[in-house]
Amino acid sequence: MRVPGDADLERRYGAANYAPLPITLVRGEGCYVEDVQGRRYLDLMSAYSALNHGHAHPRIVAAAIDQMQRLSVCSRAFHAAPLGPFLAQACEVTGMAKALPMNSGAEAVETALKAARKWACQYKGLADGEAEIIVMDGNFHGRTISIISFSSEPSYRRGFAPLTGGFVQVPFGDIAALTAAISERTAAVLVEPIQGEAGIRLPPPGWLKAVRELCTRQHVLLLVDEIQTGLGRTGAWLACDHEQVRPDGLMLGKALGGGLLPVSLFLAHEELMSVFTPGDHGSTFGGNPLAARVGLEALHVLQEEHLVDRARQHGAMLLSALQSLHHPGLREVRGRGLFIGMEFDPARVSARQFCELLLAEGALSKDTHGSVARICPPLVINEAEVMEAVACIERALAALP
Ligand SMILES: *Cc1c(COP(=O)(O)O)cnc(C)c1O
Repeated sequence: MRVPGDADLERRYGAANYAPLPITLVRGEGCYVEDVQGRRYLDLMSAYSALNHGHAHPRIVAAAIDQMQRLSVCSRAFHAAPLGPFLAQACEVTGMAKALPMNSGAEAVETALKAARKWACQYKGLADGEAEIIVMDGNFHGRTISIISFSSEPSYRRGFAPLTGGFVQVPFGDIAALTAAISERTAAVLVEPIQGEAGIRLPPPGWLKAVRELCTRQHVLLLVDEIQTGLGRTGAWLACDHEQVRPDGLMLGKALGGGLLPVSLFLAHEELMSVFTPGDHGSTFGGNPLAARVGLEALHVLQEEHLVDRARQHGAMLLSALQSLHHPGLREVRGRGLFIGMEFDPARVSARQFCELLLAEGALSKDTHGSVARICPPLVINEAEVMEAVACIERALAALP
């Protein structure tokens, strides 16, 4: 009898909430991963931007090991190094005043929702329970009950009711619809500057700036979720920077963990963060010394290795190379920086099928919403690796029916 492999055990004992491609990974370094058979693949997924620094970045791994040998977890019952320097650096690079550490992205978003509701009680005079938060259709902000309550994807919601109220949905990129939706009960507008999960959807140029101006005029908070778009992915520190927009509340996660750990932050201006007082919000692991050290090192590496500039340059190179490829089933290639999507005509080609062919050609990606393949390599990718990615994609397109 054959000894069951890792994937067999995962299928036998794991919940079926994912449908992985048929590959079992054992190692990763830079832009490459290796499977159990010792085959190497170019990673064009970057774990949804959690791997902006690539796999096993030596500086971040070294900082993590050093910190693990000192102090990893101690709870927020005590001050512990190096949380202060981490929060200071995160505020410095984002231009925000204060930061509150959590673990997963969803927790950072939950923190933002709580902050906005409490701010509306304290600064807009709304009664507790009255505040509304406006969200975009096609949004993705995580998987907690409150967050999926305002998802426009039925499969994320179905069967999980009762859902959390207090959310109003408007079309993404439509400033007139947003203007019409704002009322005296509106506490905040929550947006992704580019929608990742929805298929690398870019809003019309100027939309985010117009949202900022509208929110300021109406005394409504602008909450920007940069968990996937932030920390260099789009060729700027934050995707908001492309339009010189400063949010009132900002969520970071994914790449903040340097490719090693879940680390997230909710950042805000003084007034918004002032709603939190001792005891009203927290997390056992949020801001632990290991996470803080890894997050701090992740921010230093982004800066010192110029990963933001590299994402802009290599992203432009990759986007134009992919836009020159043709297949009758390929509708559009779009993106910003190293945040690129290839949209297929679902009547002719499924993006899943394309990703399976890409796997056979030596590169890993994942489809989103059936019709879009993500092409989002780690930001450490070099020119030769960009050309290799293009060659793999070209061969996979040629293998499509
Ligand atoms: C991934 C993601 C989240 C949720 O992060 P988790 O760490 O999976 O909880 C939230 N918002 C956006 C935009 C994301 O891409």
